[in-house]
Amino acid sequence: MSSTLFREQKRAFCAEEVRADFPILDTCVRQNKPLVYLDNAATTQKPTAVIEAIDDYYRRNNANIHRAVHHLSERATIAYDAAREKVRGFLGARSATEIIFTRGTTESINLVASSYGGSTLKPGDTILVSFLEHHSNIVPWQLIAQRTGASLQVIPMDNRGVLDMEAARQQLASGTVKILAITHVSNALGTVNPVSDLIKLAHQHGAVVLVDGAQAVQHFPVDVSELDADFYAFSGHKIYGPTGIGVLYGKEKLLESMPPYQGGGDMISSVTFEKSTWNELPSKFEAGTPDIAGAIGLGAALDYLTAFDLQEIAAHELDILQYCIDRLSELPAVQLIGNAPARAGAVSFVVDGVHPHDIGTFLDRDGVAIRTGHHCAQPIMDFFQIAATARASFALYNSRSDVDALCESLKRTITLFS
Ligand code: PMP
Repeated sequence: MSSTLFREQKRAFCAEEVRADFPILDTCVRQNKPLVYLDNAATTQKPTAVIEAIDDYYRRNNANIHRAVHHLSERATIAYDAAREKVRGFLGARSATEIIFTRGTTESINLVASSYGGSTLKPGDTILVSFLEHHSNIVPWQLIAQRTGASLQVIPMDNRGVLDMEAARQQLASGTVKILAITHVSNALGTVNPVSDLIKLAHQHGAVVLVDGAQAVQHFPVDVSELDADFYAFSGHKIYGPTGIGVLYGKEKLLESMPPYQGGGDMISSVTFEKSTWNELPSKFEAGTPDIAGAIGLGAALDYLTAFDLQEIAAHELDILQYCIDRLSELPAVQLIGNAPARAGAVSFVVDGVHPHDIGTFLDRDGVAIRTGHHCAQPIMDFFQIAATARASFALYNSRSDVDALCESLKRTITLFS
């Protein structure tokens, strides 16, 4: 298929038109204020296509998968497997057996830490993470380090929120690093990490790499085969899909070598009281009844998103991000936190004399939803010697007018506190 033909088949992207696909964006909040939703890094809103796919599943196809010959079970199984295939295509994985459905990024990382880390790490080994990690890419590694005697090291960053690649090079060159666990995009600062370079470096020194893609896949195209990532994790709810469903991509050879994470139905090949054997991939890592409706909803979300040219969405979101940075920079009381040249999705800031929680509360009165707090990234807050930030984060349905609403409300808040 020619690339021109491929482009022609894509739906033309227009942020204003896209808003109509998301019923909740019409909602009014507080005293009848139109909702301005800028908390997308926490979770994105859901298009009608996703809501209808879940509704349709429960109305017409609901049954447990893989365990019966009856017709509904067959339909549910086909829909669940089709969702896995959609994820495979979306991530550019070679085989659907490399796609494990989990509850979300957190569970995906815990699975790798516990199963891969738990079966390979030993005293003297190092797990390398970065300063920019979400708690869910720190704590599972601390837990497994305690269990195995391995130690945790951290790639430092500078005051722009950019990782020190020279330090990373030296840390990896020590030869003790067995696992590099790195976020693709920081949820707190929006920094895009050079994961491709880090993966190459890590592989040169024999380390396996897990990429936390929770804040990446919804903002720009990701191809795990091109990246050569060993593991890649993301959450359905941050990419226009439902909560309760997430993805772990893993290279087949690694997944084959790993012990199961949880035991139960569907993950076995045979069970006796003496011994059990494991099912093939991906079932080996999907014990119990999975979130069938969630997987189908995620499949619908990926269909929805990939109907567009993802590069167009990336350019649109970058435009809003830069516009937001420019508008906030005009306000003397506002201090932006993080200033990396490569950014996506989010901007963090603090305001002289106003606690971030007060900013959030006053913006909310104007219908503007942002997040305030440490964003599950306390080491980043400690680095900047602050307790919290206010964070605006963007999705494909946002536009410059949302940023204008944010800045107008922020100006009123600053005046009120001065
Ligand atoms: N990593 C990053 C970078 C995140 O932003 C988040 C969610 N805020 C997570 C991991 C955890 O995702 P979930 O809560 O969906 O498991």
